[in-house]
Amino acid sequence: MVAIGDNELVERYQGVRLDHTNKHFYRGLLDRELRLSRCADCGWWHHRPKPICPRCWSSNVEATPVSGRGTIHLVIFLYQGPPADGVDYTAGPHPVVTVELEEQEGLRFTSTVVGSPNDDIVIGAPVELVWIERDGRPFPVFRLATAPT
Ligand SMILES: [Zn+2]
Repeated sequence: MVAIGDNELVERYQGVRLDHTNKHFYRGLLDRELRLSRCADCGWWHHRPKPICPRCWSSNVEATPVSGRGTIHLVIFLYQGPPADGVDYTAGPHPVVTVELEEQEGLRFTSTVVGSPNDDIVIGAPVELVWIERDGRPFPVFRLATAPT
């Protein structure tokens, strides 16, 4: 796989505020890999990306792939909202979930759930990461996990 340069990243993410701290996260998305910030000194994860570890203040923070497995921590259903590629609010409420990832208590990532009726999308449900295309780019979403995690 050819590494994606900064120029191509900026081109692919027009309208997104990229910087040297968050570029590793977005580059990961293009590679269909969810890379969140992890401190190489103390091992603490955080998201959104910050230049220093919020736990030990080390600047030795690395974008590190997560498993994508976790449980739904919070769920809301949007009856209206900002236009988003592939989201049709007239077809029914659009689920937005915050998932607590298995890597660390409190490490959370917000997206949507695909492939399940809204009634099944409940707090505590195990989920796993899958990828869809949105605005021509890979976009990380979740689906309800069939096997116990
Ligand atoms: Zn740290």
